[in-house]
Amino acid sequence: MPRTKRHTPTHADGRPLKITFADMRSMGVRGVLVYCHCGRHVALDADRWPNEVRLSDIEPQFVCQGCGSRGADVRPDFDRGNPRLAIIGLKETAN
Ligand SMILES: [Zn+2]
Repeated sequence: MPRTKRHTPTHADGRPLKITFADMRSMGVRGVLVYCHCGRHVALDADRWPNEVRLSDIEPQFVCQGCGSRGADVRPDFDRGNPRLAIIGLKETAN
């Protein structure tokens, strides 16, 4: 079954908008997807972050377990519950 393309908010050049967790919750999204440039990604529960934090603010907190890169791409998890996306590839560093 092909994946359905979702409407993640982006700028015209494709960069994600600098939305906050409050903005994300207002869209009914309760989790985030953290992507590394190498293709690994992990789904996380967003309850741990307060409303005023932007998704982009937490990107430097992640280090990829696959390639070791610091700094990930954090996006609203519109596909929450999709088991194909629940692949553990990143871990959080200490806050
Ligand atoms: Zn990586």
